[in-house]
Amino acid sequence: MEERRILVVEDEPKIADTLKLGLGENGYEVDVAYDGKIGLKLFETFPFNLVVLDINLPGMNGYELCKIIRQHNAQIPVIMLTALSSLNDKIEGYDAGADDYIIKPFEFKELLMKIRVLLKRTMHQTLPTGTILKAGDLEMNLDSKEVKRDNAGINLTAKEFQLLEYLLRNKNRVVSRADIAMNVWDIDFDTNTNVIDVYISYLRNKVDKPFSQKLIHTQVGMGYILKETY
Ligand code: CA
Repeated sequence: MEERRILVVEDEPKIADTLKLGLGENGYEVDVAYDGKIGLKLFETFPFNLVVLDINLPGMNGYELCKIIRQHNAQIPVIMLTALSSLNDKIEGYDAGADDYIIKPFEFKELLMKIRVLLKRTMHQTLPTGTILKAGDLEMNLDSKEVKRDNAGINLTAKEFQLLEYLLRNKNRVVSRADIAMNVWDIDFDTNTNVIDVYISYLRNKVDKPFSQKLIHTQVGMGYILKETY
């Protein structure tokens, strides 16, 4: 069995200990840091498969740490633990590069399920598919995770990459916000939230704005479509 090493950065000893014990019982190897800076040190020192990250931490907060982790490694799954549940905090977490989050207090089983889903996804991602997704002059290499348009590289965050991958896989087909929420975030978003529109606008700024030919289109009342019009 492949080794599954998890970094837990959490300053509340009770939660940290529960996670270490519970994840250990489920076959994961767990390292705990009670401080953001120590968490970063551990991350830079050992090869982890996934990170569980509290937001309010001494040393360095979870958002900052998540951004640095993303600079090192665009693909490692990061789950944020937070007592804050407002939309802005969720957006900030995703913007920092988190893949998912859990609101405290949480059920251990729920966290375990999310960990399994994310690890399974990264395992699938590393399969040698050799796939390049294309739409016009836009190219996405699923192996090297490179995105190019007109042969110029485009830097995307992990979440932006997943969103663009989903749009490309559904090229020339309208996808609803609910489809996107389920397939890109693994979450049923409250229909009042605008996190998807926010991310679409991030993508447009990077993928479409510098070019006269737009690829991402809004289908009013229905969702979004990535159209190949060449
Ligand atoms: Ca905390």
